[in-house]
Amino acid sequence: MMQTKYIFLTGGVVSSVGKGVTAAALGRLLKQHGFQVAIQKLDPYINVDPGTMSPYQHGEVFVLDDGAETDLDLGHYERFADIRLNKVCNVTTGQVYANVIGRERHGDYLGGTIQTIPHITNEIKRRINQVALTTDAEIVLCEVGGTVGDIESEPFLETLRQLRSNLGRENTFYIHVTWLVHLAATRELKTKPTQHSVRMLRSVGISPDMIIARSDHPVAADLCEKIALFCDVDKSAVVPMETAQSLYDVPMKLHNAHVGEYILHRLGLESRQQPDLSGWQWLSQEIHREKPRVKIALVGKYVELHDAYISVREALEHACIHLGVELELSWVQSADLEKGRSWEAVQAAHGILVPGGFGPRGIEGKISAIRYARENKVPYLGLCLGMQTMCIEFARYIYNTDDANSTEFDPNTEHPVISLMPDQEHIADKGGTMRLGLYPCELQEGSVARRAYGEARIDERHRHRFEFNNAYRKPFEEHGMRFSGLSPDGRLVEIAEVVDHPFMVASQFHPEFLSRPTHPHPLFYEFVKTACMEHDIPCCTVAVPESLK
Ligand code: GLN
Repeated sequence: MMQTKYIFLTGGVVSSVGKGVTAAALGRLLKQHGFQVAIQKLDPYINVDPGTMSPYQHGEVFVLDDGAETDLDLGHYERFADIRLNKVCNVTTGQVYANVIGRERHGDYLGGTIQTIPHITNEIKRRINQVALTTDAEIVLCEVGGTVGDIESEPFLETLRQLRSNLGRENTFYIHVTWLVHLAATRELKTKPTQHSVRMLRSVGISPDMIIARSDHPVAADLCEKIALFCDVDKSAVVPMETAQSLYDVPMKLHNAHVGEYILHRLGLESRQQPDLSGWQWLSQEIHREKPRVKIALVGKYVELHDAYISVREALEHACIHLGVELELSWVQSADLEKGRSWEAVQAAHGILVPGGFGPRGIEGKISAIRYARENKVPYLGLCLGMQTMCIEFARYIYNTDDANSTEFDPNTEHPVISLMPDQEHIADKGGTMRLGLYPCELQEGSVARRAYGEARIDERHRHRFEFNNAYRKPFEEHGMRFSGLSPDGRLVEIAEVVDHPFMVASQFHPEFLSRPTHPHPLFYEFVKTACMEHDIPCCTVAVPESLK
């Protein structure tokens, strides 16, 4: 068996320069070279996981098969490299300390003083090591969140420093992703902040083997030479990375800069196969091609921050690419609809989508958008809360009352069509206690969902506390709602669809987490396809190159 190789990625100068996408695209590139990869994120914040943070703070919470609530970068990793990760792939300072303090209370260190080095750093090492133990990865990419110089990331950087001597120089590779500052007055790119950032990295004992220099402007060769000289890396290891038009251009860009070959060589590995990126080239050409446009209105609560719905947007994008159409997404603030604003975007849309969410703000706006979709037969896709609100709207319609709701929003509602799951009733803790992760679902013969998936049993990822109240199944069915996806024991409604409608389908799970640029998710695909067909937008099943399948 091959000795596991490690690639560590740190960030410099500023945050949000696309370190996560770089790690993800590099994972894909190394996979194309014939290696099994896994990608891990080390997050320096003290929360145990992002599950309790507001999407405004943190963006989307990405859920894995095993139910781990993780950073949205894990979504990039899975989508780019087409892999399924597990809970060890997202480590936070909170998890590390909780574990060490738990063991201290248990008496595991009796007599000792617990210190950052070695106790915290050893726990971080143990967690990095777990990736290789729990996956079949031969190369582990490990990204440190935040920017070098942050106080809270120091224990992580110290651990990475130690790992070079623990694991051996030939088994470790350090990439520093930085930002080249552009001065508008002189129209030049400046390397000094990058130099300082590398100096700061060196001051904690890490010498980068490669610098990926991100920029919004073309980077001239002499600038790369300057970075190489001042930062003491090979000229061929300074990789200029101009902002791509699409995220999915990044694997090609890294490939064209020979990043894969360079890293493999430095890790003492030979490429196992000529990396075939023709599929990715196709993908990137498709994205940039002029195409008929399909308008989708995403009616949500956190729409000001697009990162809050990143997997939903990507899943729509994947479906559009494979249908040969261009996505025109309107972000509609559901609370605005309640005040009579933003309806133009809903009325102009070829399809309406309500994503997941928590709390009462904007619920009534979502319900009105759903009513509009049902009455006007506009294709509708509901995700988690989007299914619950679709059921609330349906109850209000069939009982001709406004007093139907989820007990999340109105505990005393006359028609609690969505209520707390029995296993949730006695749970007081908020963190990590929802129904999380992969659960099976059986699809009803003849339903839209069954046709979309083309199979009878599926597994999808969940993150919810509330569910459809079974007392309402019968009246709903009598009035034209079909429960087309149920848990195998029949107890939980997983998919509901309105029968007399071209496409009004909603799931209790989050299909967006399993969509890939290479394989669009069936529900998103069918939703966008119906939205196009209902509005005479020419779409087709695009022939996908073999290398992408
Ligand atoms: N708030 C709802 C619940 O807890 C929906 C959750 C979601 O959309 N992820 O069940």
